[in-house]
Amino acid sequence: TKREDVRNVAIIAHVDHGKTTLVDELLKQSGVFRENQEVQERVMDSNDIERERGITILSKNTAVHYKDVKINIIDTPGHADFGGEVERVLKMVDGVILLVDAFEGAMPQTKFVLRKALELNLHVIVCINKIDRPEARPEEVVDEVLELLMDLDASDEQLDCPFLYASAKAGYAVRNLDDKPENMAPLFETILDAIPAPEGDPDGDTQVLISTIDYNEYVGRIGIGKVERGTISVNQDLMLLNHHDPDKRERVKISKLYEFDGLSKVEVKSATIGAIVAISGIADIHIGDTLCAGDNPEAIPFQKISEPTLSMNFLVNDSPLAGQEGKYITSRHLRDRLYRELNTDVSLRVEDTDTTECFKVSGRGELHLSVLIENMRREGYEFAVSKPEVLYHTDDRGRKLEPIEIAYVDVPEEFSGTIIQKLSERKGELQGMSTASDGSVRLEFSIPSRGLIGFRNEFLTSTKGTGILNTMFDGYAPYKGDFPYRKQGSLIAFESGETVTYGLFSAQERGTLFVGPGEKVYGGMVIGQNGKAEDIELNVCKTKHLTNTRSSSADDALKLVPPKILSLEQAIEFIDQDELLEVTPTSLRIRKRILD
Ligand code: GDP
Repeated sequence: TKREDVRNVAIIAHVDHGKTTLVDELLKQSGVFRENQEVQERVMDSNDIERERGITILSKNTAVHYKDVKINIIDTPGHADFGGEVERVLKMVDGVILLVDAFEGAMPQTKFVLRKALELNLHVIVCINKIDRPEARPEEVVDEVLELLMDLDASDEQLDCPFLYASAKAGYAVRNLDDKPENMAPLFETILDAIPAPEGDPDGDTQVLISTIDYNEYVGRIGIGKVERGTISVNQDLMLLNHHDPDKRERVKISKLYEFDGLSKVEVKSATIGAIVAISGIADIHIGDTLCAGDNPEAIPFQKISEPTLSMNFLVNDSPLAGQEGKYITSRHLRDRLYRELNTDVSLRVEDTDTTECFKVSGRGELHLSVLIENMRREGYEFAVSKPEVLYHTDDRGRKLEPIEIAYVDVPEEFSGTIIQKLSERKGELQGMSTASDGSVRLEFSIPSRGLIGFRNEFLTSTKGTGILNTMFDGYAPYKGDFPYRKQGSLIAFESGETVTYGLFSAQERGTLFVGPGEKVYGGMVIGQNGKAEDIELNVCKTKHLTNTRSSSADDALKLVPPKILSLEQAIEFIDQDELLEVTPTSLRIRKRILD
């Protein structure tokens, strides 16, 4: 049976291409907002970090009505796939709207999600937004999108998808550029026509696949998923089948059942196939679990949640608790906060360590963990973190395996050489290269995850902030060998007034260090260009404000390796005499020195 009164659709869009505006507008026009009720809060982006990083991490649900049809709109993670989140979200829908800025065109960040959608055979609607912009170039963008779809091996049917043009801001969509702009009806109609109604057996035994977990201090864990078969009701005898452990099953009753309407959840007594529901009252509900009829429990197969690839230590650092004078973040606070994160983030792992002040947190890549760190810092948690380390595996034959990622790079032509060189030094293998219509170069690398650690900052610096870097976990592969001159770290020294600070800069910290105020260079190159061995030249310049160094790389390095403060004499003593090349009152030069 098909539920013609429901459509489930996801929006795929690069940040700023107008997703929020579009959903606001659909809500308004669907009559969800009463006349005098303002659109106060923008619907979909509650997470500032997403915006800053150009990605979307949380998935949220909204429902709009058009004619007699309820359209569930599900937000997709815009970019990084933390533990199969993209696929989980896309499994709830029957089609996607690919929203593309009529000036900027399709951005590589959306490629991952789009690829998944195509693989899952979802129907596609392309919506070229912001056609009101004076610099809009909708026809060209249509060609670019078609090219992208072909690149991603879209089926003939998918290539034949409807294209619409819209100004979300002005509140209209049109099928042809010369159509008279009126309202969003053409988009609503296209959704109804092009996206199939959800199908299933409404009389069968209940099956709900839990795709997302929401968490609320008061009600605890909330499972969100689609009713795949039968009907689910409050007070029904249900069985919860655990995704990880097939033997683990639990008889449960739900306390509250909701469907989405507008921006809110609305309590319902029961829901049937195709409905996206939220369920509270089950403490032990997890992503991937199937909630099913008590007398006929059948699990729905579910994609495995991927393992973490990288870990970092989070350490208590004696800092005051935000807003509470005299109180300090204790290891208990930190621990509670970290463990709480596990409620909603399935791809994260937290472990206690031998030290009570230190917790090992593992996740899917540096970006994943840095988003958590930034979120926690914004909440007022102060803590120190260690450099990330990748998690190695061994295979049956005892070989060491390491995580490999695909890195997609978009840079203006002039920087492509530098980036290719830098990533090659990090064992990146160039797998594809093309020139986009705007003259920028797209590069695709396969690279060990460890090669990307700390690379983002360097990437931004070397492309003067113009490059775009996206990475995606690809799998584990045999260890690719050490990087040239990197594993051990390099010695660096810099002077402040009378003292010389001596630190071991981690292997990935490279390049020239800067110091404020005035951003003067105070340290020299650590490792030679091209990865070739070169003498390290340390130009130890006078600077008064060592403790005020404000450069991300210097800061990071200082945090990681508390520098020893030595006088110039002591520093010289510390260095092997045969490594010392030259000492002047303000500088010393040493030969490359490798420390284990
Ligand atoms: P999101 O990041 O995809 O959710 O994008 P937003 O909806 O926040 O939009 C980003 C910016 O683009 C905002 O300043 C919007 O006002 C603007 N915008 C959205 N849609 C349109 C449009 O159709 N035309 C124009 N000119 N600007 C738009």
